[in-house]
Amino acid sequence: MKHYQTASLVGAILVALVGCQNILPTQTSTPKLIINSSDDAQISQQLAKQALASRLSYDIVESLTVEVGPRLAGTEKDIVAVEWAMEKLWLMGFDKVYKESVQVPAWSRGTAYASVVSPYEQPLMVTALGGSIATPVNGIQAPIVRFESLEELTHASPARIEGKIVFIDHKTERHITGKGYGESVGGRSRGAIAAAEKGAVAIVIRSIGTDHDRMAHTGMMRYQEDVPKIPAAAMSNPDADLINAMLKRDPKVVLSLNMTSENQGIATSYNVIAEVTGSSKPDEIVLIGAHLDSWDEGTGAIDDGAGVAIVTTAAKLIQDLPQKPARTIRVVLFAAEEVGIVGAKAYAEQHADELDKHYIAAESDFGAGPVYKIDFNVNPATYEQVKQEHSAMTLFGVEMGNNEASGGPDVSIMPALGVPVASLRQDGTDYFDYHHTPNDTLDKIDPKKLAQSAAAYAQFAYMMAQSEIDLRPLKQKEQQH
Ligand SMILES: [Zn+2]
Repeated sequence: MKHYQTASLVGAILVALVGCQNILPTQTSTPKLIINSSDDAQISQQLAKQALASRLSYDIVESLTVEVGPRLAGTEKDIVAVEWAMEKLWLMGFDKVYKESVQVPAWSRGTAYASVVSPYEQPLMVTALGGSIATPVNGIQAPIVRFESLEELTHASPARIEGKIVFIDHKTERHITGKGYGESVGGRSRGAIAAAEKGAVAIVIRSIGTDHDRMAHTGMMRYQEDVPKIPAAAMSNPDADLINAMLKRDPKVVLSLNMTSENQGIATSYNVIAEVTGSSKPDEIVLIGAHLDSWDEGTGAIDDGAGVAIVTTAAKLIQDLPQKPARTIRVVLFAAEEVGIVGAKAYAEQHADELDKHYIAAESDFGAGPVYKIDFNVNPATYEQVKQEHSAMTLFGVEMGNNEASGGPDVSIMPALGVPVASLRQDGTDYFDYHHTPNDTLDKIDPKKLAQSAAAYAQFAYMMAQSEIDLRPLKQKEQQH
């Protein structure tokens, strides 16, 4: 397909889209190309078409959810997942497949029961938050004290809280970007510390979720060394509504809580890594990641079996190209993201001496797609070039966003280490209906949307492995997260 000679990318895409071998593109106001040849544009289009036509991404997440299922970090199933990934990647024919050990916290959920004792006896649907301690064997019985948010709790007087069960009632707003989660999740992660500092005996939060199902959303919570540890649980959204209705009738609502969760020390897990070796710059790395671990109550389909499937499929399509791109594509399936991005921190330490060779990193950890926008965090001086290059090579009308990306949870620590990142934004409208619940199962995944995300990652990874734009240094931020 060499019927045009100028580097007319618009033309190249036109040719690719209509699939016609003989038209000469009309000269338009073509964006000035920095590096990518029209061949790259064609290969990128071809990768996307293959991804869209392929069932590979769905097959991968189906295999992981059926053959492994829940895989909480530090459990036996976590190791089964590592073995699954090693074998799967090996059979897919990647140039390199290896694993690197990570020390992860092990925790057992146990059982969690809660009920309203007065004014109206009723059972509640609750689940332990990850990392929580147990209640005493006979449970805890105490009146609740309600707060709109973590913010309100932090400003409250200890006199209101002492001896009570703190109830944080923060509703999570539905949004395509998932921003409601960012606003409410502090109550889950830091609520136990804030409550215990003021003398609470336990904390039960409204689930950080957008659904109205009678199930609770788990997720990680933290303790602080110098603050007493109290049991922490989440209740379903309808149960939080029920509590509110009771509080309207009687300001004194007494709960009973009984939990047997347990922290079990440290266990070994692994980051699992596969590579497509670059042809001319093999030591330079385009990292596309996802996390292999999941919470224990669902089968880890959308969080993050989907991400595992998306990045693995993208890399596999590039692996199978007749001509490998310049840089190495490295797929990293991170260990123990859910329990504190533990695998990612280990990766950054173990690869400290080659982080300057990481050209860019991105992680898929926001469900099963589709991708609708790409944000970057690259050298501000070259961002416009990156934008132009990428928008020209993307098949789906994926929007170009801003230069403020975090890159996804596991790679969010990389910008502070100088590594450019990108966030391929996936539609998260429904994500927090299922996230961290027993309802995170395969049926929530639409194979076509999943394939679209795989296509977007394939195009992104390929383009980044070929690009000659200098993505460093990143802009200096006062606070890089
Ligand atoms: Zn996740």
